[in-house]
Amino acid sequence: MPASAVSRKRRAVSVVLALLLVTSPGVVAAAATATDEPSCPYALGTRSANVYVQTSAEYRACCRSIYAAAGYRLEEMLEDAEPGPVRPAVVMDIDETVLDNSSFQTFLYVNELEYTPELWSQFEQEGIDEVGMVPGASEFIGRAESLGVAVVYLSNRNERNLDRTVAALAGAGLDTTGIGERIYLKPEGASSDKSPRRDAVAARYNVLMYFGDNLRDFSDVFRPARPSADAPPEEYLAAIEARNRAVEDASCHWGVDWFVLPNPIYGEWEKLTPESPEAIFRHSAMETGEPAE
Ligand SMILES: [Mg+2]
Repeated sequence: MPASAVSRKRRAVSVVLALLLVTSPGVVAAAATATDEPSCPYALGTRSANVYVQTSAEYRACCRSIYAAAGYRLEEMLEDAEPGPVRPAVVMDIDETVLDNSSFQTFLYVNELEYTPELWSQFEQEGIDEVGMVPGASEFIGRAESLGVAVVYLSNRNERNLDRTVAALAGAGLDTTGIGERIYLKPEGASSDKSPRRDAVAARYNVLMYFGDNLRDFSDVFRPARPSADAPPEEYLAAIEARNRAVEDASCHWGVDWFVLPNPIYGEWEKLTPESPEAIFRHSAMETGEPAE
């Protein structure tokens, strides 16, 4: 979870709806009608995404696939690399890339809270024992370290909570030896754009790979051009298409030296979702009722 003021578009739902969502998923449709909420409230989407991350074996397998492929790729890159004076490194975002903070999402959900930087900072300080590891991350990090590659952490966590973040990494079983030389957090009041810190890392190490769950972990060209709240659906679709094109333009990186971990709960993509996502969904021409003979 970046402290980068990823503005949550999660819709506030009524107390009645929230209680029904928690206690009885089967009555969601009726609750939505009764409270005049759209049929796909943000709270429901977030809830399902957190279920996916916390319970699905598919999420686990997906993350392991990415880290296993990255491990093979790293060995291949090192075989091809000319030995040089600059130490090779991999640059890793922390939240939902290395550490699993889904208990924070559960906290927001059960308490009917919107994300705020203040609540996140509180979790950075108090949630050390609640974080887990993204599947495959510890094995990849161990593999990189055994190959002599520096593991550099580049995160938008608060720099003022540095000691707590280091404690969270150590508590998750990661080697934090010399971490002060290889962790770059966001100074108070600084931009969430990681580019200057990426440049600082690149000046110090021979960076072979980047890992993240947010495309801005790789480049700020992926920063979404957020439409205004009252913008028409076409404007949202155009912004989505522009971001998709930027991904296609970077095809030479994906799975080669840029590795993306799935995060269906939150991210920059939320900024390109209108209040009523139905307005931009792909729809079917199929009609309800008896299927044709
Ligand atoms: Mg992250």
